[in-house]
Amino acid sequence: MRIVLVGPPGAGKGTQAAFLAKNLSIPHISTGDLFRANISQGTELGKQAKAFMDAGNLVPDEVTIGMAKDRMEQPDAVNGFLLDGFPRNVSQAEALDVALKADEVKLDAVLDLEVPEDEVVKRIAGRRICRKDSAHVFHVSYNQPKQEGVCDVCGGELYQREDDSEDTVRKRLEVYHTQTEPIIDYYRAQGLVRTISALGKVDEVTARAMDALKRDK
Ligand code: AMP
Repeated sequence: MRIVLVGPPGAGKGTQAAFLAKNLSIPHISTGDLFRANISQGTELGKQAKAFMDAGNLVPDEVTIGMAKDRMEQPDAVNGFLLDGFPRNVSQAEALDVALKADEVKLDAVLDLEVPEDEVVKRIAGRRICRKDSAHVFHVSYNQPKQEGVCDVCGGELYQREDDSEDTVRKRLEVYHTQTEPIIDYYRAQGLVRTISALGKVDEVTARAMDALKRDK
């Protein structure tokens, strides 16, 4: 299956993507994770992306589209993938369509995670992420690790993303509304969108998502 996951920051895209990708045996491709890996490795691409990310803005398409396409061309993605955080504007969605068409393949679904805005801000402000695996996500109030600052799953260090500060979150939300939300209409016109609520426990949302993906439309 080829799936795109859409939703505002804090909707739980990373967490859900990890479970869904495992259930469906497809790779989880997160452009945010690819950028963060480049930043921590000090690559040129990471240097180009960092200032945009810190400000809560999108990294320019010239950088992002090439990076996403390179990852999708890896052998593990030949039979499908779950895209998390890409595309994030209509021109990226168009570039993805062109790339898929060249490979004579199509998207199967666009899963749209819905969550109220005040919930998003609460979720992100308290979010703590494992340095070893970004799918291991905790929250200072809603999902506390057994030991403060330590990942329950693998013992990695928990940290707060630099772009999870309140000001940057507000900017990221504005960017989501103005630039990313229009892709939902773009994909609705192709009959691909399945919208689900992202509220509730992680496994409840995963079950809802799996049901929505099994539905025809
Ligand atoms: P995420 O981990 O998906 O929340 O992404 C973190 C940040 O990485 C975003 O706020 C953007 O600055 C950047 N980013 C991730 N994916 C994209 C994309 N498809 N296009 C442009 N910038 C992106």
